[in-house]
Amino acid sequence: MLKTTLNLSRRLKMADKQLSDLVLQRKECAKCGAIWINGKHMFSGTAASYDRSELDLAGLVCNKLGDERCINPRKGQDGGQTWEYRAGFIDGATKAKRDALDDLNNIVNP
Ligand SMILES: [Zn+2]
Repeated sequence: MLKTTLNLSRRLKMADKQLSDLVLQRKECAKCGAIWINGKHMFSGTAASYDRSELDLAGLVCNKLGDERCINPRKGQDGGQTWEYRAGFIDGATKAKRDALDDLNNIVNP
């Protein structure tokens, strides 16, 4: 029992040591609620993060809805995704699926 307790406290000390270098910095945009963890933007909800996500965030949210409180460094820049682009993407994907179904239908019912 005593030995187990000692082992446990030693392990906790080691865990303390391993965690001591970890710095978690979190910034949240007061306007659009976007979150940056250690300087990296993450979409809230999905936590998606990728190289162009700040630019996409600007196109989807900040350029239209942001104001002077917005902390997105890419705010005001063009080239990211927009809702118009996403709608077009979905239209295109829907058409591709419909075309595939038509092809299948033509094979089954020539
Ligand atoms: Zn913002």
